[in-house]
Amino acid sequence: MLHGKPQDTPTACHSMNETKSFTLYSANSAPILTFTMFGECHAHIAMDGANYAQAMARHTQAPDEAHIRACFEAYCGAGVTFVRDGGDKYGVSALAARIAPEYGIDYRTPIFAIHKRGRYGSIVGRAFDDLRGYAHLVKEAAGQGADFIKIMTTGIMDFTVFGRITHEDLDAEEVRQMARIAHDAGLAVMSHTNGKSAVLAAIEAGVDSIEHGNYIDDECIATLAESQTCLVPTATVARNLIGRELFDEAVLQRIWEASHQVIAKAVAAGCLIALGSDAGAVGVPHAQGAQDEYACFEAAVPDEAARNAALERGEAFIRATFAKR
Ligand SMILES: [Zn+2]
Repeated sequence: MLHGKPQDTPTACHSMNETKSFTLYSANSAPILTFTMFGECHAHIAMDGANYAQAMARHTQAPDEAHIRACFEAYCGAGVTFVRDGGDKYGVSALAARIAPEYGIDYRTPIFAIHKRGRYGSIVGRAFDDLRGYAHLVKEAAGQGADFIKIMTTGIMDFTVFGRITHEDLDAEEVRQMARIAHDAGLAVMSHTNGKSAVLAAIEAGVDSIEHGNYIDDECIATLAESQTCLVPTATVARNLIGRELFDEAVLQRIWEASHQVIAKAVAAGCLIALGSDAGAVGVPHAQGAQDEYACFEAAVPDEAARNAALERGEAFIRATFAKR
């Protein structure tokens, strides 16, 4: 398979750093893929890791292809050959999906993320008012080549108050219907979700991955461990903001420490968990983000064999699940 042997492709991936090598195995233990660095399971190629408004301004007329190519070159240079995007509203990831094969990168995209109007999510996608509107957006994303559906069921962390989420959660029954509609269309569901009750609702709804998953407790971890839902904690986001004097340092430190605990407990409990940094977010450059997120896992799970085994299993799940059927 092309992505497992990027050294055979005439691309920038030639120069990849080969210091680490991992192998993914299929259910019957046959090796299916060897790669040199874990994939990036949560990125936004439209963003630049520095300034959201400036990054978006480059795409308003048309997606900035030079930006996309620079991102892919950075991924190749870091040995990252798998990238799962979280969507954008200007068609940037749709163009990226067409270019990615040139770099030997296995790139998956929801095209745009889907949020309820008035709730969090307008920075990465499009809004619906009711489930009919939602179903229409699912169809539209699929028509534009989406590999899966990305939904937003809560806000993000309020970096000024530990434990606070910025927007109201979606209703649990609505989330259940959203997951069902996407699954009925043959598409997996990537769910941006924070907070205990919303995470439990998303797992119950059968979403295939929970993104961020901040402020969860042991009950959530136990429920995750029993589910077929993969956690992508994006711990790098808060950790990389520490020391930048943009937000309350004590709050950032507490968020990072809480993520650190969640990663340690989730790996110990045998949860599906994967490496995703939210690359493109402020303070999280493309390619570097995956390395930074790996450093978060190193801090949380000192046992290298246990850490890599959990991440290999998580990535194998993401690669297999978040694919067109
Ligand atoms: Zn994201």
